[in-house]
Amino acid sequence: MNCPICNYPTNKLIANLPNGTICKCIDCGTVFRKNLIAGNSLFDLYDSDSYLESPYFQALKAGEKRDREPYNAYNNVLKSLDTMTEKKRLLDVGCSYGAFLEMAEEHGWEAYGVEISSKAYSYAVEQRKLNIQNCTLESAEYPDDYFSVVTLWDVVEHLDDPLSTLREIHRVLKADGVLMIFTINQKSLINAVGHLIYALSFKKIVSPLVLLYDIHHNFFFNKRTLEHLLKQAGFDRRLKIAWMDSKIERWQSVPIPPLLSLGTKILDFAARLMGNRYRMIYYAGKGT
Ligand SMILES: [Zn+2]
Repeated sequence: MNCPICNYPTNKLIANLPNGTICKCIDCGTVFRKNLIAGNSLFDLYDSDSYLESPYFQALKAGEKRDREPYNAYNNVLKSLDTMTEKKRLLDVGCSYGAFLEMAEEHGWEAYGVEISSKAYSYAVEQRKLNIQNCTLESAEYPDDYFSVVTLWDVVEHLDDPLSTLREIHRVLKADGVLMIFTINQKSLINAVGHLIYALSFKKIVSPLVLLYDIHHNFFFNKRTLEHLLKQAGFDRRLKIAWMDSKIERWQSVPIPPLLSLGTKILDFAARLMGNRYRMIYYAGKGT
């Protein structure tokens, strides 16, 4: 399979797991799932009850307490955006139940969303009265130069064609607009430890990598490969980059064993010191 980002024909196998084969492009370094989840399987997956009823998504429903993740991250991003561009139209791609859009509206933004899951879409419209379309970004057909901000929360790693989606974002974003991407850092300390355990056990201990290479994710970016993707889509300017701990037990879509939870807390602490934390919050601007 050619690299889905740069089309280079050769890639290296980095993990052969029960939940899929993970490869790395020899040329651009992008890490991806060998058999991408694409087309109708993407739509079916995000409408499945087992996915939408996981603790991760339940925490995003209306009336939930906002004193935890992902709400703290939402707040921090809204504060950062205030300093970066005019507060007008904000589009959240893959907005799920609309938890971030609801906060953005409260914060003074004119909020728009697209969401492919019809169940999450119905919830966001009925319970939160948000302005959302039930389709992909490409099908939403927004005008050129329309949004001041576009956000992707835990979305870029799920896409089957991230380059085409980012090019569409480039089209609908204003010249001085901001694209915010929140995703997992594939070069994190936690990831390195997962690979070390896999290698030292002669590929027998796969559970850390099974969690890290989540079955729902097609891509696993780090700062360099995300910037490579952004540049190809026309985003040449890094406005800001922030890092976050894994806080893995509050985010993971499946419950994780207590020992692993403790282990990740220790690794989060060490990663702060070493500068290779688990999550990236990347703010990009269009090229000039
Ligand atoms: Zn490549």
